Amino acid sequence: MAAGRRNRTANGGDRTPDARGRGRGTTFADLVRAEQSRPARPDRRRLPPGRHGDLLVDAAHRRSTLVDAHLDAPRAGALVRGGATVAFDPCGCGGACGISTLEPDRLARLTSAGDPVVSDDRRHPGELSSWVAEDDRSTLLVLASGRVVWGRKLA
Ligand SMILES: [Zn+2]
Repeated sequence: MAAGRRNRTANGGDRTPDARGRGRGTTFADLVRAEQSRPARPDRRRLPPGRHGDLLVDAAHRRSTLVDAHLDAPRAGALVRGGATVAFDPCGCGGACGISTLEPDRLARLTSAGDPVVSDDRRHPGELSSWVAEDDRSTLLVLASGRVVWGRKLA
């Protein structure tokens, strides 16, 4: 077909004929629309344990998403008394050297230890944050980063 290749200026220059002749007449806008309508296939490759922006990966590769990056101490205490689990990032690096999740017996002791105390020392700050499990929105996690004292545990 001699008329196969169309005149770019006549059709506004949005045609993208490809070298193999497939998709002739498919515009970039068509491709974008097609891509937008595809079901999502997020990258499920394993991330190393630690904090990756708003995603937290624990040692068992369970993922949680960030709810509150600046959780206050009374609320953290209330969440734990209500059943949230606790994880520690002792040096506050974001988990590069490990995030440890508190075992159930120690967690039980923590619930009677009152609220955590967060250091506001500028050189050694602490921070609390809350997270929710990606696969179970009823599982809450409180992350204590840097210098946080909670019960007898110094994290
Ligand atoms: Zn660290």
